[in-house]
Amino acid sequence: MTLHAGAAHKVVAKNTIVEMDGDEMTRVIWAMVKQQLIEPFVELKLEPYDLHLPNRDRTDDAITVQAAEAIKRHGVGVKCATITPDAGRVKEYGLKKAWPSPNGTIRAILDGTVFRKPIIVKNIPPMERAWQKPIVIGRHAYGDVYRDVEMKIPGPGRVEMTYRPADGSPPQTVVVHDFQGPGIVKGEHNTEKSIRSFARACIFYALHDKLDLWFAAKDTISKTYHAAFKEIFRAEIDARRADFERAGITYQYMLIDDAVARVMRHPGGFLWACRNYDGDVFSDMLASGFGSLGLMTSVLVSPDGHFEFEAAHGTVQRHYYQHQKGEPTSTNSTATIFAWTGAITKRGELDGTPELVAFARALEESVVETIEAGIVTKDLAAIAQPPIARHATTEGFINAIGERLAHKVGAGLALL
Ligand code: NAP
Ligand code: MG
Repeated sequence: MTLHAGAAHKVVAKNTIVEMDGDEMTRVIWAMVKQQLIEPFVELKLEPYDLHLPNRDRTDDAITVQAAEAIKRHGVGVKCATITPDAGRVKEYGLKKAWPSPNGTIRAILDGTVFRKPIIVKNIPPMERAWQKPIVIGRHAYGDVYRDVEMKIPGPGRVEMTYRPADGSPPQTVVVHDFQGPGIVKGEHNTEKSIRSFARACIFYALHDKLDLWFAAKDTISKTYHAAFKEIFRAEIDARRADFERAGITYQYMLIDDAVARVMRHPGGFLWACRNYDGDVFSDMLASGFGSLGLMTSVLVSPDGHFEFEAAHGTVQRHYYQHQKGEPTSTNSTATIFAWTGAITKRGELDGTPELVAFARALEESVVETIEAGIVTKDLAAIAQPPIARHATTEGFINAIGERLAHKVGAGLALL
């Protein structure tokens, strides 16, 4: 099969991708990527939701909820990075209030798990020599320390934890600690439903990408809380044992410290399912170890198989202020482009449109080849091997990718 440029031969998508625009530098990049790398080559059916902060404010954030509902309807979405407003942003944009994180809202509606995957490029070697293939992290996105309650204990006294069953049966109480002096205390929770959804999303991803699955916790110490995670994972894996065998992949449970030690020496190519806090910390470690935030993609997968693709980084605020002043910028659009190719690939797979999948692959190859040819943004120039003295501008990098892509597509290269 071949792909051709030009309106007459444009690949046409069968079904809808939910498009969520966002803020600051990534909004600038978003428009360029669409205009130069997508629209000339494929005819997508996009259902747009503008999550630009002023629009979230204008709609009392209803637009975010509508976008999440649309992903549930259509199955595939692509999202630009968005500002999560704090007090400073409320002032900067004159907002009615500090609206919640759009990612948090969308994640809660889809009940999804976030997977982060680094893009590997030959001349950007990982800091860790052992890593040759991507290490994907699946982060549980509910509960634990992110939904805890905390208390400062001013002086001596007893802290207890009590469960009062809704059916009126007798309460259960445990003593947390008998304080002899000042201290601190916190209560964490999770739900069986959420842990099960997390396990299922990880299993779904591992089977789909044919990746070995790791899960790690500290059940030797936390014999009820962490042990529950381990048991739920075990039960969900047992239910899919035949599928794992067919896919030729394995599941391993290990202690979290063992997993961390092993990760540093492992060649990669597996999915590491992480509890919420572990995922927060280790995804940043992996992003930095693999090179740059600009090379890290992120996908939210719901237990019923809905997908939302995005770059793992934020709106790159500092670059945006430069851009607003008319100064040249050098922002890496790789992860944003891969968010688009992820969504296009998924749409193509779901609809049985191999031409779409082929186009997405051609675009990804164009990005990787551009970087490998030494045309890179500033974040990569500093860490490339061999080092690159001159870095491209934001526009220059996208233009170079566009030229390569047009050549690939225009030459009618056999892509399948
Ligand atoms: P950020 O936008 O990820 O940027 C942090 C720094 O990392 C940048 O200043 C830049 O470093 C570097 N960087 C990140 N992405 C880059 C890229 N594509 N190309 C080149 N350099 C890149 O994080 P932040 O500054 O903490 O957050 C800014 C805003 O983004 C906040 O309002 C936050 O709420 C939002 N945010 C959104 C999401 C999301 O929507 N998924 C995620 C995180 C943060 P240098 O300045 O040193 O060049
Ligand atoms: Mg983090």
